[in-house]
Amino acid sequence: MGQAPATTTAGADDLSVWPASTARLDHGDLGVGGVSLAGLAERFGTPAYVLDEIEVRERGRTYLHAFPGAQVFYAAKAFLCRAMAHWADEEGLGLDVCSAGELELAVTAGFPPENIVLHGNAKSPHDIDAAIRFGVGRIVIDSPSEIARLVAAVAPGGRQKVMVRVAPGVMAGGHDKIRTGTDDQKFGLTITDGHAHHTIARILDQPRLELTGAHCHLGSQITSVKPYATAVRRMVGLMARVRDSHGAVLPELNLGGGHGVAYRPGEPALDITALARTVRAELDESCAAARLPVPRLLIEPGRAVVGPAGVALYRVLAVKRGGQRVFVAVDGGMSDNPRPALYGVRYAPRLIGRRSTAAPRRADVVGRHCEAGDVLAADAELPGDIRPGDLLALPVAGAYHLSMASGYNLVGRPPVVAVADGRARLLVRRESLDDFRSRDVGL
Ligand SMILES: *Cc1c(COP(=O)(O)O)cnc(C)c1O
Repeated sequence: MGQAPATTTAGADDLSVWPASTARLDHGDLGVGGVSLAGLAERFGTPAYVLDEIEVRERGRTYLHAFPGAQVFYAAKAFLCRAMAHWADEEGLGLDVCSAGELELAVTAGFPPENIVLHGNAKSPHDIDAAIRFGVGRIVIDSPSEIARLVAAVAPGGRQKVMVRVAPGVMAGGHDKIRTGTDDQKFGLTITDGHAHHTIARILDQPRLELTGAHCHLGSQITSVKPYATAVRRMVGLMARVRDSHGAVLPELNLGGGHGVAYRPGEPALDITALARTVRAELDESCAAARLPVPRLLIEPGRAVVGPAGVALYRVLAVKRGGQRVFVAVDGGMSDNPRPALYGVRYAPRLIGRRSTAAPRRADVVGRHCEAGDVLAADAELPGDIRPGDLLALPVAGAYHLSMASGYNLVGRPPVVAVADGRARLLVRRESLDDFRSRDVGL
């Protein structure tokens, strides 16, 4: 225990943000899904992502139990590979995609297109063609100019189910860059100035489009249920006005995702059961007041399904002091996790694979990329004797890591390894120099 205050040491050993299957093994190692993390680092190299399959499935089931009667769409942009599409389908989740790429990957992996919702504030002709060709369940219209393009893409006599994305004027979300419910950002059609209502009227005029309801997504990393209740009220208000002026009763309300998770012990997470209770109560009450039948609820969680199921593994390459700070440099960084640089997110990485008795100290875990902003975990608490060759494991790495990874410095994106019941299997292999070379076709 060294000279460290008891509370600090307890904090460093807190596994509350790790997958439920996480176990302490010998020699300071951790097991996830019954598999040693240090062993995975040896076998698959570093950096690497580990995904606890059972945790992902459990989190999906939690939503289905908390929201009976609702349709739950996993937001694929948080993390997508063919196995993930299978897990979502097997658990009874639909899929929310925002590009032809995500759509094709899912459908060609066998995901039923009727359970897919296509989003996007700027859908390309290819996105729209693919959605119509595959027969996606719903397309969410995000601007009036999409209407004519969609109508033109639907075959004569055909009918495409659509929803309309609304900005309900609700401020929520963990950071400016992930707030999408307010009036002054690029997503959705505003209620206050009538844009949403006007666009709905135009969609209702189109025989080739079947408007099933309104959609909103307030933002991401939201930890309070309150903004969702406000959004329900405003969305029901809009749906009531649509009924009053056009006689159209829309059967569905999609509340998007954005449910926050704890990245470090002690941080708040959105309570899914409380969310379900609040949304249900508010929906019943608002609909009763407006004498509107209660619409079917759709939700689209991404981060909260997959984030806490993932762990990123890194090898320490260098340790040095600079001014008042200690820098622990690892073999990955902003190319496999741009989130700290984008949103200032904080993580709590942990030494694995060796037991240290050294007193903890604060250090900045930085990446290997050519940017001073390439910081993975600012002010992380790590053992004072951390040294090159050590392994670090960073929990809550399942969402918006690989899906936002880049080819910066040609380091290559890490592999994804699924663990379950004591077994590990490679889902996505490491990106190699050959991958980069094969795209580089000119000279
Ligand atoms: C990103 C997104 C989601 C999922 O957000 P999370 O914060 O990962 O839950 C859901 N719906 C839409 C439309 C989105 O853009």
